[in-house]
Amino acid sequence: MHQPEDEYAWPVCGACSRELWESEAGRQTCRLCETRTSERLRELGALYEQINTSAALMRGARRGGAPTSGSRTPPIPPRLEVLSLAANGGAATRLQAIEDSWRQALGWGLELRRNDLHVFASWRSDPRRDVPARIRFLINNLPWACDDYDSVGQDIEEIRRLHAECKQALSHDRKPGRVNVGHCPIQIDGETCGAQLTATAANSHIRCGNCGTQWDDMWGWRELRQAQDAVAAEEGRGVAA
Ligand SMILES: [Zn+2]
Ligand SMILES: [Zn+2]
Repeated sequence: MHQPEDEYAWPVCGACSRELWESEAGRQTCRLCETRTSERLRELGALYEQINTSAALMRGARRGGAPTSGSRTPPIPPRLEVLSLAANGGAATRLQAIEDSWRQALGWGLELRRNDLHVFASWRSDPRRDVPARIRFLINNLPWACDDYDSVGQDIEEIRRLHAECKQALSHDRKPGRVNVGHCPIQIDGETCGAQLTATAANSHIRCGNCGTQWDDMWGWRELRQAQDAVAAEEGRGVAA
């Protein structure tokens, strides 16, 4: 095969700028970039779930029960990166922006939100529910984008960045170890267990080292808070401050 070298630039991957193989001719990106992006999207689903759990723990579990005034249970220290990734405008909106541009390029039109001029501002659904759907769409259409979508390079970069940000936000770099989340409220033979409980921001499992009781998820965490509040209220009657 003769390439007229002075006027023909060998095509490169739109994401990593590597020269494409002949078997990749006509594609927008190399196959490796497609594979890596697909893996990142899959991981992103799990990372986002963790982000959500952590964000919920950081906000405390005050909804549901009337806030008792005297809970001395410290919440998991909030981290802005986690909270902003979980919120509207965070991961959900960024994935949505990519999906919308792909839909437009495919000529599929946007979903109902498009009726409004403010495409993102009007999007007020639940990120926790929608992020998995966004990720599914992107995984399903990634082969098309890597073949045919000429702006896919910037989207692949955005996915790489988002994946890295979620990982970083959940990492223990700056907060090694565990944080105290109050005392065990379990009653054993009429006495409160009272052992110090600890948790990490990246994991919602809390286990009492003394009595072995375990709280596994957000639901359990709420129960734990309520039980702790009840114990605190009970003790508060006799012990002032
Ligand atoms: Zn590449
Ligand atoms: Zn205990």
